[in-house]
Amino acid sequence: MFISSLGSYFPPSKCIQMILILSHFSAVFRLRILLFTFLLSCIFFQNQLYSQQGWDREYFDSSITVDETFPGPHKLMGFQPGEWHPNHIQVDLFMDRLAELSPRMVKKEIGRSHENRPYSVLIVSAPENLDQLEELRECHLASIDPNNFSCADGAFNPLVLYQAYTSHGNEPSGTGAALLYAWFLAAANDEWVDEVLAETVIIIDPVMNPDGYDRFVSWVNSKRWLNAQVSDPNDDEFNQPWPGSRTNHFWFDLNRDWLPVQHPESIAKIRLFQAWKPNVLGDYHEMGSNATYFFQPGVPSRTNPMTPQINQDLTAAIAEFHANALDEISVPYYTKERFDDYYYGKGSTYPDIQGCVGILFEQASSRGHVQETIHGPLTFAETIRNQLATSFSTLRGSWELRTELRDYQQNFFQEVRKEARRASGNAYRFEMGNDPYLLQEFIRMMATHDIKVYQGDEKDGKKAYYVPFEQTRYYLVRTIFEKVKEFPDSLFYDVSTWTMSLAFGIDAEVVTVSPNFINRSTLLDYNTDFSPANQYQPFEKSVIGYIFEWNHFLAPGLLYELLREGVKAKVAFSPFSIKVDGGESDFSEGSILILSGIQTMSEAELHQLLNEIAAKKGIKVHSMDRGLSISGIDPGSPTFRMLNLPKILMVTGSGINSNNAGAIWYYFDRHLHIPITKVSNERLGRVNLSDYDVIIVPSTWGLSMPDNINERIRSFVSDGNTLILEGEASRWANSAGISRAQINNLSSRPDEVAAYGDIAAAFGAYAVGGCIVKGRADLTNPLFFGYDNDVFHIFKRKRWVLELPENQLSAPLQYSSDPLLSGYLHTSHPAEISEQASMLAESRGRGRIIHLSDAPFFRGYWFSTAHIMSNAVFFGGMIDGRAAF
Ligand SMILES: [Zn+2]
Repeated sequence: MFISSLGSYFPPSKCIQMILILSHFSAVFRLRILLFTFLLSCIFFQNQLYSQQGWDREYFDSSITVDETFPGPHKLMGFQPGEWHPNHIQVDLFMDRLAELSPRMVKKEIGRSHENRPYSVLIVSAPENLDQLEELRECHLASIDPNNFSCADGAFNPLVLYQAYTSHGNEPSGTGAALLYAWFLAAANDEWVDEVLAETVIIIDPVMNPDGYDRFVSWVNSKRWLNAQVSDPNDDEFNQPWPGSRTNHFWFDLNRDWLPVQHPESIAKIRLFQAWKPNVLGDYHEMGSNATYFFQPGVPSRTNPMTPQINQDLTAAIAEFHANALDEISVPYYTKERFDDYYYGKGSTYPDIQGCVGILFEQASSRGHVQETIHGPLTFAETIRNQLATSFSTLRGSWELRTELRDYQQNFFQEVRKEARRASGNAYRFEMGNDPYLLQEFIRMMATHDIKVYQGDEKDGKKAYYVPFEQTRYYLVRTIFEKVKEFPDSLFYDVSTWTMSLAFGIDAEVVTVSPNFINRSTLLDYNTDFSPANQYQPFEKSVIGYIFEWNHFLAPGLLYELLREGVKAKVAFSPFSIKVDGGESDFSEGSILILSGIQTMSEAELHQLLNEIAAKKGIKVHSMDRGLSISGIDPGSPTFRMLNLPKILMVTGSGINSNNAGAIWYYFDRHLHIPITKVSNERLGRVNLSDYDVIIVPSTWGLSMPDNINERIRSFVSDGNTLILEGEASRWANSAGISRAQINNLSSRPDEVAAYGDIAAAFGAYAVGGCIVKGRADLTNPLFFGYDNDVFHIFKRKRWVLELPENQLSAPLQYSSDPLLSGYLHTSHPAEISEQASMLAESRGRGRIIHLSDAPFFRGYWFSTAHIMSNAVFFGGMIDGRAAF
């Protein structure tokens, strides 16, 4: 093919479009001549564009004058922008080079990803500002603090922009644009840039998701055609296999984690955000390849009511600049449709509750180097060009509106203080249940957002905690605690609620306390107050044995490590009181008993091992003084059941919901340090299932496996093992003949719709995007060992429930009769959910199937129900057959 002589995808749109059209006809000889002539003109055109600095500067932006001696991005990168996808190391080195070459920027490593990739940003400003960056930051914060307007000598309040790219790894045009944006600011020899940078600090965050980004880049680069041009959307290049690369290492969507802050990438980013409190945050994404371009404002009726109207007005005012920039390069776009500003856990909405203007950008994705779309071939270079255009328009718009943005931010925090004072009550008060780890994780989340939590006086042995309203993040505090049931619209881009306190099992109340009370209380410091070493209490050696309670979130991890070390452990199936640690204590079902006399190791070795592992986890172990209980079962009773080291397999691969699978993996890995073997369902036929005793199937997207595999899973269960089905996996198991659980779909459509134009709203109102419902559990069931409150806050996303079987003992968690706690549900749904099953235990042969229809560890932060997963693993197989249908 003649086309191979081009050897590059450059210059992008026009040439490629023509080449593709012509190459269709190139079998005809005379057209080959035409194609050849055209190619020559393309190469000529290319040379023209690559003159001066040797790269296509005009294609990407023509308005900034640059220093012609500054090395072009292709020199720093080794290839033309858009030609290849730079991997994460190349991105990082590019940033290093810019920071070395330009006095206008410094590079800062703010954290590390799960896979230990450096997470770095560029901070861009005038050189003299970079010399006093800390003073400027402090002055910026002081200027918006209603209690403190003082700045150091020579410091001023800069306009602060945070431009953040590629939170989803497979949306790389943002990163390409971020690098070119930084390059232009570094290379600029331009009065306007000097004028702007003299008063502005720009944080450029090119890759918010380093691990997902590298997964994507290594795929598309390795599938890239080198000579021929393949833009067919069916090519492997554009179709990455499961689990794709949108997510991070644990298959989490980082653009839902701005509020829960469960991952190192989010923690680093939010700390930086809170340290700088920017005026504007741009969040650059990609959408389907056949789309055009979107920028906010989003759907007006779906803006969170806590976001001030001025925020949306400023978003719209800045949008004029994006419109101009895209009009100039003939790129079609849309606003105020599809995407919304509702869930505060997203990058473009999180800032909106904190005096900052968050803006979402969505570029149609080439998802590779050049892909055919309904609008013609879309090149990677074009997508970079468009994101670069809106990076600059964000800067231009913010600069033109700098006075309004600064006034808005200052007024916002004054208004927050007034609102906090006007509110009924002045603090949230809560007590914690019996799991210290949940408090620790809750305080960590609050501390990351810079929210102050105090520990008050102890009453009846229970500690109470207070979150005062009067603090700069009052709105954030509200969104963390508030339950919301009324909505201006019934359509949501994502979940309709996220009451974070409920995720940690906290039911808070609004109280009024005297200001002195807060002054007297202890401000909690996550770093010092919650280290495992601080919580751990050593215990005496005992000839009888040891007991630890199952309520600690990490207790399953402690049990697992002990079993792995060969320690024999039993679990109490009934409560008891016994003499321990020189006193008397009550223990509930689920308490773990380690008898000294039945071990193969010596008493001293057992004591030392227990001490070491319990200290790491911060778990209290009790030393037994007697072998006779004061009440309830005695330690030698058969009601203590012997435990085995579980060998766990989790099914992954195509057809499995990777977000759900990732949350399970994350739970066992990050929190419990318990290994689970991940096996893709395509490989399941080659694995000996008898090597395992627990199989977990995470929620599915139309999973289908061959009959012989389904048969092997049926035998696996009936041979006496445990199958745990999460979410849609119950539906799959039913259709595969593995389970008899019945699924009741909730109503999904209106009886009638008045007009064609009402269809989307009328049908959409039946979606269950995500809400919090109340359920009641039987705490004596092994699936609820470790819990002391039978009321559960369940995160529900499915438009179906498990049908309540005749044997109600087999449904140990049922929805309450008035189930909705927070979030949106169609008015017909509460009655349909009411008193149906959220969980079921099923008996097949000698084995058990545990159905967990609502993901217990939703998005890795729904801590309050996560323990159920461990209970299913360790105790699911022991459930009495009379309590399983
Ligand atoms: Zn995205």
